[in-house]
Amino acid sequence: MAQCAIALGSNLGDSLDTLEDSLKVLHLVPGIELKTTSSWYQTKPVGTPQPQPDYLNGCALLSVEQTPKELLTILQATEIQFGRVGKRTLQPRTLDLDLLLYEDVVLNTPDLTIPHPRMAERAFVLVPLAEIASDWIEPRSGHTIASLLQNVDTSGVQPYLTV
Ligand code: ADP
Ligand code: MG
Repeated sequence: MAQCAIALGSNLGDSLDTLEDSLKVLHLVPGIELKTTSSWYQTKPVGTPQPQPDYLNGCALLSVEQTPKELLTILQATEIQFGRVGKRTLQPRTLDLDLLLYEDVVLNTPDLTIPHPRMAERAFVLVPLAEIASDWIEPRSGHTIASLLQNVDTSGVQPYLTV
């Protein structure tokens, strides 16, 4: 099986329920095992043209039998299952699932880029990912997640406290 890391995000609807339910759905997919989940973070939207609600973000580690492309298709189907509409980036969404890392694969295709092309600059990805995979080497840069995290501003990323 292949080890991979995904990022989860939501800023519409009941985000906490959506994120937790989406992980349960992924775990039920044959060939996917959910290994580890980060805690959740409340994060400021980054680079959005219009003001929009804060996000809830986290990351998870999976063991999968699927190829990267098969996994992307499953992630996209899961986004749709949880009501994501539209395809544009940087729009509010009920669920965004990104494939960050797949073993040490580097892949550049029109539909799928691995490692995720913007992960190294996104504090809302690196903070939760460092919790569960700090020693994983991002193969494009050759740097660990822990060291990438040292180069980003994490001020917009706060632990999400549930009561
Ligand atoms: P973002 O998550 O950066 O806000 P979107 O989720 O709207 O952007 O982007 C979706 C598009 O990104 C899809 O059409 C998909 O084919 C493409 N894509 C390329 N690489 C990846 C990846 N590693 N994970 C998820 N989507 C990817
Ligand atoms: Mg996405």
